[in-house]
Amino acid sequence: MAQEQVEVLILGSGPAGYTAAIYAARAGLKPIMYQGGQPGGQLTITTDVENFPGYPDGIMGPEMMEDFKKQAERFGTDNRWGMATKVDFSTPLAHKVIIDDTHEIVAKTVIIATGASAKWLGLESEQRLNGYGVSACAVCDGFFFRGQEVAIVGGGDTACEEAHYLSKLCKKVYMLVRKGEFRASVIMQKRVENTANIEILYHTETLEVLGTDGVTGVRIKNAQTQVESVLDVTGFFVAIGHQPNTQIFDGFLNMDEAGYIETIKGSARTNIEGVFACGDAQDKIYRQAVTAAGSGCMAALDAERYLAEKDLH
Ligand code: NDP
Repeated sequence: MAQEQVEVLILGSGPAGYTAAIYAARAGLKPIMYQGGQPGGQLTITTDVENFPGYPDGIMGPEMMEDFKKQAERFGTDNRWGMATKVDFSTPLAHKVIIDDTHEIVAKTVIIATGASAKWLGLESEQRLNGYGVSACAVCDGFFFRGQEVAIVGGGDTACEEAHYLSKLCKKVYMLVRKGEFRASVIMQKRVENTANIEILYHTETLEVLGTDGVTGVRIKNAQTQVESVLDVTGFFVAIGHQPNTQIFDGFLNMDEAGYIETIKGSARTNIEGVFACGDAQDKIYRQAVTAAGSGCMAALDAERYLAEKDLH
Protein backbone atom coordinates (compact mmCIF):
# COMPACT_ATOMS: atom_id res chain seq x y z
CA MET A 1 0.00 0.00 0.00
CA ALA A 2 1.29 3.49 -0.90
CA GLN A 3 2.52 5.35 2.19
CA GLU A 4 3.07 9.07 2.76
CA GLN A 5 4.44 11.08 5.71
CA VAL A 6 2.80 14.40 6.61
CA GLU A 7 2.97 17.05 9.33
CA VAL A 8 -0.73 17.87 9.45
CA LEU A 9 -3.51 15.73 8.04
CA ILE A 10 -6.99 17.28 7.93
CA LEU A 11 -10.03 15.04 7.51
CA GLY A 12 -13.17 16.81 6.29
CA SER A 13 -13.86 19.90 4.23
CA GLY A 14 -16.60 21.90 5.93
CA PRO A 15 -16.01 25.28 7.62
CA ALA A 16 -13.98 23.58 10.38
CA GLY A 17 -11.67 21.66 8.04
CA TYR A 18 -11.07 24.59 5.70
CA THR A 19 -10.40 27.03 8.54
CA ALA A 20 -7.92 24.57 10.05
CA ALA A 21 -6.33 24.30 6.59
CA ILE A 22 -6.05 28.09 6.19
CA TYR A 23 -4.32 28.44 9.57
CA ALA A 24 -2.07 25.40 9.17
CA ALA A 25 -1.07 26.39 5.62
CA ARG A 26 -0.29 29.98 6.63
CA ALA A 27 1.87 28.58 9.46
CA GLY A 28 3.92 26.70 6.84
CA LEU A 29 2.73 23.25 7.93
CA LYS A 30 1.81 22.14 4.38
CA PRO A 31 -1.46 20.47 5.41
CA ILE A 32 -2.95 17.67 3.38
CA MET A 33 -6.72 17.66 3.41
CA TYR A 34 -9.03 14.83 2.41
CA GLN A 35 -12.44 16.20 1.55
CA GLY A 36 -14.50 13.20 2.68
CA GLY A 37 -17.82 11.90 1.41
CA GLN A 38 -19.49 15.29 1.11
CA PRO A 39 -16.92 17.78 -0.21
CA GLY A 40 -17.65 21.20 1.26
CA GLY A 41 -19.73 19.67 4.04
CA GLN A 42 -23.29 20.38 5.06
CA LEU A 43 -23.33 23.96 3.79
CA THR A 44 -23.21 22.63 0.24
CA ILE A 45 -26.76 21.35 0.75
CA THR A 46 -28.17 24.58 2.16
CA THR A 47 -29.35 27.76 0.45
CA ASP A 48 -28.95 31.21 2.01
CA VAL A 49 -26.54 31.62 4.87
CA GLU A 50 -27.52 34.82 6.61
CA ASN A 51 -25.72 34.42 9.91
CA PHE A 52 -22.06 34.12 8.91
CA PRO A 53 -20.40 37.44 9.80
CA GLY A 54 -18.93 39.37 6.90
CA TYR A 55 -21.74 38.73 4.42
CA PRO A 56 -24.24 41.56 5.03
CA ASP A 57 -26.49 40.40 2.17
CA GLY A 58 -26.11 36.69 2.95
CA ILE A 59 -24.48 34.13 0.67
CA MET A 60 -25.43 30.78 -0.80
CA GLY A 61 -23.90 27.86 1.16
CA PRO A 62 -22.15 26.21 -1.82
CA GLU A 63 -20.67 29.55 -2.89
CA MET A 64 -19.36 30.21 0.60
CA MET A 65 -17.66 26.80 0.69
CA GLU A 66 -16.06 27.49 -2.69
CA ASP A 67 -14.60 30.67 -1.13
CA PHE A 68 -13.29 28.69 1.87
CA LYS A 69 -11.67 26.22 -0.54
CA LYS A 70 -9.99 28.93 -2.62
CA GLN A 71 -8.64 30.60 0.51
CA ALA A 72 -7.21 27.33 1.85
CA GLU A 73 -5.62 26.47 -1.50
CA ARG A 74 -4.17 29.96 -1.90
CA PHE A 75 -1.85 29.27 1.04
CA GLY A 76 -0.79 25.85 -0.22
CA THR A 77 -3.25 23.35 1.23
CA ASP A 78 -2.96 20.06 -0.65
CA ASN A 79 -6.67 19.45 -1.13
CA ARG A 80 -7.60 15.93 -2.23
CA TRP A 81 -10.62 13.78 -2.94
CA GLY A 82 -10.86 10.76 -0.66
CA MET A 83 -12.21 9.42 2.55
CA ALA A 84 -10.53 8.05 5.66
CA THR A 85 -11.59 4.42 6.00
CA LYS A 86 -9.46 3.23 8.95
CA VAL A 87 -7.22 4.79 11.59
CA ASP A 88 -4.58 3.68 14.07
CA PHE A 89 -3.81 6.37 16.62
CA SER A 90 -1.60 4.17 18.83
CA THR A 91 1.78 5.73 17.95
CA PRO A 92 2.34 9.42 18.80
CA LEU A 93 3.81 11.42 15.89
CA ALA A 94 3.07 8.49 13.57
CA HIS A 95 -0.71 8.29 13.48
CA LYS A 96 -1.87 6.11 10.63
CA VAL A 97 -4.89 6.91 8.49
CA ILE A 98 -5.95 4.74 5.55
CA ILE A 99 -7.61 6.63 2.70
CA ASP A 100 -10.15 4.79 0.50
CA ASP A 101 -8.59 1.47 1.64
CA THR A 102 -5.70 2.11 -0.76
CA HIS A 103 -3.35 4.77 0.58
CA GLU A 104 -1.72 5.10 4.01
CA ILE A 105 -0.89 8.46 5.53
CA VAL A 106 1.46 8.61 8.51
CA ALA A 107 0.78 11.93 10.21
CA LYS A 108 2.48 13.78 13.04
CA THR A 109 -0.83 15.47 13.74
CA VAL A 110 -4.38 14.73 12.65
CA ILE A 111 -7.21 17.28 12.64
CA ILE A 112 -10.63 15.65 12.57
CA ALA A 113 -13.30 17.79 10.93
CA THR A 114 -15.54 15.02 9.63
CA GLY A 115 -18.79 16.74 10.61
CA ALA A 116 -22.16 15.06 10.89
CA SER A 117 -24.68 13.37 8.53
CA ALA A 118 -28.44 13.40 8.23
CA LYS A 119 -30.48 11.01 10.39
CA TRP A 120 -33.27 8.82 8.99
CA LEU A 121 -36.51 7.66 10.57
CA GLY A 122 -35.53 4.02 10.14
CA LEU A 123 -38.57 2.86 8.18
CA GLU A 124 -38.06 0.09 5.64
CA SER A 125 -40.13 2.02 3.07
CA GLU A 126 -38.04 5.16 3.63
CA GLN A 127 -34.82 3.34 2.79
CA ARG A 128 -36.37 1.41 -0.13
CA LEU A 129 -37.57 4.65 -1.75
CA ASN A 130 -34.46 6.66 -0.91
CA GLY A 131 -33.52 8.43 -4.12
CA TYR A 132 -36.92 7.55 -5.62
CA GLY A 133 -38.92 10.31 -3.97
CA VAL A 134 -37.40 10.10 -0.47
CA SER A 135 -34.62 12.56 0.33
CA ALA A 136 -32.78 14.11 3.26
CA CYS A 137 -31.87 17.22 1.30
CA ALA A 138 -34.58 19.54 0.05
CA VAL A 139 -32.08 21.85 -1.55
CA CYS A 140 -30.57 19.00 -3.57
CA ASP A 141 -33.80 17.32 -4.61
CA GLY A 142 -36.63 19.85 -4.25
CA PHE A 143 -36.27 20.78 -7.90
CA PHE A 144 -37.62 17.37 -8.93
CA PHE A 145 -40.91 18.08 -7.17
CA ARG A 146 -41.79 21.41 -8.76
CA GLY A 147 -45.54 22.00 -8.75
CA GLN A 148 -46.17 18.84 -6.69
CA GLU A 149 -47.28 18.12 -3.13
CA VAL A 150 -44.61 16.96 -0.68
CA ALA A 151 -44.17 16.20 3.03
CA ILE A 152 -41.25 16.94 5.31
CA VAL A 153 -40.62 15.45 8.75
CA GLY A 154 -39.04 17.42 11.59
CA GLY A 155 -39.62 20.45 13.76
CA GLY A 156 -36.12 21.92 14.03
CA ASP A 157 -34.45 24.78 12.16
CA THR A 158 -33.41 22.48 9.33
CA ALA A 159 -36.97 21.25 8.76
CA CYS A 160 -38.29 24.84 8.81
CA GLU A 161 -35.60 26.06 6.44
CA GLU A 162 -36.18 23.17 4.05
CA ALA A 163 -40.00 23.43 4.23
CA HIS A 164 -39.71 27.10 3.36
CA TYR A 165 -37.36 26.29 0.48
CA LEU A 166 -39.78 23.62 -0.81
CA SER A 167 -42.75 25.98 -0.50
CA LYS A 168 -41.20 28.13 -3.22
CA LEU A 169 -41.05 25.19 -5.63
CA CYS A 170 -43.95 22.96 -4.66
CA LYS A 171 -47.70 23.37 -4.74
CA LYS A 172 -48.09 22.29 -1.11
CA VAL A 173 -45.80 21.25 1.74
CA TYR A 174 -46.98 19.25 4.75
CA MET A 175 -44.73 19.57 7.80
CA LEU A 176 -44.97 16.53 10.06
CA VAL A 177 -44.01 17.51 13.61
CA ARG A 178 -44.05 14.68 16.13
CA LYS A 179 -44.74 16.83 19.21
CA GLY A 180 -47.21 19.65 19.77
CA GLU A 181 -44.43 22.21 19.32
CA PHE A 182 -41.42 23.08 17.22
CA ARG A 183 -37.84 22.81 18.36
CA ALA A 184 -36.86 25.50 15.85
CA SER A 185 -36.01 29.10 16.71
CA VAL A 186 -38.98 31.48 16.78
CA ILE A 187 -37.95 33.32 13.61
CA MET A 188 -37.82 30.08 11.57
CA GLN A 189 -41.06 28.85 13.08
CA LYS A 190 -42.85 32.10 12.18
CA ARG A 191 -41.50 31.86 8.66
CA VAL A 192 -43.22 28.50 8.05
CA GLU A 193 -46.37 29.49 9.94
CA ASN A 194 -46.70 32.54 7.71
CA THR A 195 -46.27 30.63 4.46
CA ALA A 196 -49.64 29.97 2.86
CA ASN A 197 -48.81 26.65 1.16
CA ILE A 198 -47.20 25.03 4.23
CA GLU A 199 -49.58 23.03 6.40
CA ILE A 200 -48.20 22.04 9.80
CA LEU A 201 -49.46 18.77 11.24
CA TYR A 202 -48.53 18.48 14.93
CA HIS A 203 -48.50 15.24 16.97
CA THR A 204 -47.91 13.43 13.71
CA GLU A 205 -45.98 10.22 13.27
CA THR A 206 -44.95 8.74 9.91
CA LEU A 207 -45.93 5.08 9.65
CA GLU A 208 -44.98 4.30 6.06
CA VAL A 209 -43.91 5.90 2.83
CA LEU A 210 -46.11 4.50 0.08
CA GLY A 211 -45.09 3.58 -3.46
CA THR A 212 -43.04 1.08 -5.43
CA ASP A 213 -40.96 2.93 -8.07
CA GLY A 214 -41.65 6.36 -6.60
CA VAL A 215 -43.51 7.95 -3.71
CA THR A 216 -47.29 7.99 -4.05
CA GLY A 217 -48.20 8.95 -0.49
CA VAL A 218 -47.37 8.84 3.21
CA ARG A 219 -49.34 7.00 5.85
CA ILE A 220 -49.43 9.02 9.06
CA LYS A 221 -50.97 8.77 12.52
CA ASN A 222 -52.08 11.49 14.91
CA ALA A 223 -50.53 10.49 18.23
CA GLN A 224 -53.32 12.19 20.23
CA THR A 225 -56.35 10.79 18.40
CA GLN A 226 -54.65 7.63 17.05
CA VAL A 227 -56.39 8.37 13.73
CA GLU A 228 -54.47 7.16 10.68
CA SER A 229 -54.63 8.88 7.30
CA VAL A 230 -52.80 9.09 3.97
CA LEU A 231 -51.29 12.24 2.47
CA ASP A 232 -51.19 12.16 -1.32
CA VAL A 233 -47.65 13.40 -1.80
CA THR A 234 -45.00 12.51 -4.37
CA GLY A 235 -41.99 13.61 -2.35
CA PHE A 236 -40.96 12.79 1.21
CA PHE A 237 -38.19 14.74 2.93
CA VAL A 238 -36.53 13.86 6.23
CA ALA A 239 -35.02 16.67 8.32
CA ILE A 240 -34.71 15.26 11.84
CA GLY A 241 -31.15 16.05 12.79
CA HIS A 242 -27.71 14.61 12.30
CA GLN A 243 -25.26 11.92 13.40
CA PRO A 244 -21.57 12.78 13.91
CA ASN A 245 -19.27 11.05 11.38
CA THR A 246 -16.92 9.61 13.94
CA GLN A 247 -17.45 5.82 13.79
CA ILE A 248 -13.97 5.10 12.40
CA PHE A 249 -12.36 6.70 15.48
CA ASP A 250 -14.20 4.37 17.84
CA GLY A 251 -11.79 2.57 20.15
CA PHE A 252 -9.21 5.38 20.03
CA LEU A 253 -11.02 8.61 20.87
CA ASN A 254 -13.25 9.37 23.83
CA MET A 255 -16.77 10.16 22.67
CA ASP A 256 -20.12 10.81 24.30
CA GLU A 257 -23.05 8.41 23.98
CA ALA A 258 -24.17 10.03 20.70
CA GLY A 259 -20.69 9.68 19.15
CA TYR A 260 -19.52 13.29 19.46
CA ILE A 261 -15.75 13.41 20.09
CA GLU A 262 -14.78 14.76 23.50
CA THR A 263 -12.24 17.55 23.48
CA ILE A 264 -10.35 18.96 26.44
CA LYS A 265 -12.10 22.12 27.62
CA GLY A 266 -10.82 25.30 26.00
CA SER A 267 -8.92 23.40 23.31
CA ALA A 268 -9.33 21.09 20.31
CA ARG A 269 -7.20 18.38 21.95
CA THR A 270 -8.61 14.88 22.25
CA ASN A 271 -7.51 12.12 24.63
CA ILE A 272 -4.85 11.08 22.07
CA GLU A 273 -1.83 13.33 21.75
CA GLY A 274 -1.42 14.86 18.32
CA VAL A 275 -5.09 14.24 17.40
CA PHE A 276 -7.40 17.25 17.40
CA ALA A 277 -11.12 17.55 16.71
CA CYS A 278 -13.21 20.48 15.52
CA GLY A 279 -16.59 21.33 14.00
CA ASP A 280 -19.75 19.26 14.24
CA ALA A 281 -17.82 16.03 14.90
CA GLN A 282 -17.27 17.37 18.43
CA ASP A 283 -20.03 19.96 18.85
CA LYS A 284 -23.60 18.96 19.49
CA ILE A 285 -24.58 22.25 21.08
CA TYR A 286 -23.83 25.12 18.70
CA ARG A 287 -23.36 23.37 15.32
CA GLN A 288 -23.03 26.61 13.39
CA ALA A 289 -20.73 27.36 10.49
CA VAL A 290 -19.11 30.17 12.45
CA THR A 291 -18.49 28.07 15.56
CA ALA A 292 -17.16 25.24 13.38
CA ALA A 293 -14.78 27.68 11.69
CA GLY A 294 -13.67 29.00 15.10
CA SER A 295 -12.96 25.51 16.37
CA GLY A 296 -11.04 24.69 13.15
CA CYS A 297 -8.79 27.63 13.92
CA MET A 298 -8.27 26.29 17.46
CA ALA A 299 -7.38 22.83 16.10
CA ALA A 300 -4.74 24.23 13.73
CA LEU A 301 -3.20 26.42 16.44
CA ASP A 302 -3.17 23.48 18.87
CA ALA A 303 -1.51 21.27 16.23
CA GLU A 304 1.11 23.95 15.55
CA ARG A 305 1.85 24.35 19.28
CA TYR A 306 2.06 20.60 19.74
CA LEU A 307 4.64 20.31 16.93
CA ALA A 308 6.57 23.28 18.39
CA GLU A 309 6.62 21.60 21.84
CA LYS A 310 8.14 18.53 20.17
CA ASP A 311 10.71 20.76 18.41
CA LEU A 312 9.24 19.71 15.09
CA HIS A 313 8.13 23.11 13.90
P1 NDP B 1 -32.59 19.43 15.66
O1 NDP B 1 -31.96 18.34 16.42
O2 NDP B 1 -32.54 20.81 16.18
O3 NDP B 1 -34.14 19.09 15.41
C1 NDP B 1 -34.55 17.82 15.00
C2 NDP B 1 -36.05 17.81 14.82
O4 NDP B 1 -36.44 16.55 14.29
C3 NDP B 1 -36.81 18.01 16.12
O5 NDP B 1 -38.00 18.73 15.88
C4 NDP B 1 -37.13 16.57 16.53
O6 NDP B 1 -38.28 16.44 17.28
C5 NDP B 1 -37.37 15.93 15.19
N1 NDP B 1 -37.12 14.49 15.21
C6 NDP B 1 -36.00 13.83 15.64
N2 NDP B 1 -36.15 12.51 15.48
C7 NDP B 1 -37.37 12.31 14.94
C8 NDP B 1 -38.10 11.18 14.54
N3 NDP B 1 -37.58 9.95 14.66
N4 NDP B 1 -39.33 11.37 14.04
C9 NDP B 1 -39.85 12.59 13.90
N5 NDP B 1 -39.24 13.73 14.25
C10 NDP B 1 -37.99 13.58 14.77
O7 NDP B 1 -31.92 19.32 14.21
P2 NDP B 1 -31.81 20.39 13.05
O8 NDP B 1 -31.13 19.64 11.97
O9 NDP B 1 -33.08 21.01 12.74
O10 NDP B 1 -30.82 21.50 13.61
C11 NDP B 1 -29.53 21.18 14.08
C12 NDP B 1 -28.81 22.45 14.55
O11 NDP B 1 -28.51 23.30 13.44
C13 NDP B 1 -29.66 23.27 15.51
O12 NDP B 1 -28.83 23.81 16.49
C14 NDP B 1 -30.21 24.35 14.62
O13 NDP B 1 -30.52 25.52 15.34
C15 NDP B 1 -29.09 24.59 13.63
N6 NDP B 1 -29.57 25.11 12.34
C16 NDP B 1 -29.61 26.45 12.15
C17 NDP B 1 -30.07 26.99 10.98
C18 NDP B 1 -30.09 28.46 10.79
O14 NDP B 1 -29.87 29.17 11.76
N7 NDP B 1 -30.32 28.96 9.61
C19 NDP B 1 -30.55 26.14 9.87
C20 NDP B 1 -30.49 24.73 10.19
C21 NDP B 1 -30.03 24.26 11.38
P3 NDP B 1 -38.34 16.70 18.88
O15 NDP B 1 -38.26 18.20 19.04
O16 NDP B 1 -39.65 16.12 19.22
O17 NDP B 1 -37.18 15.97 19.47
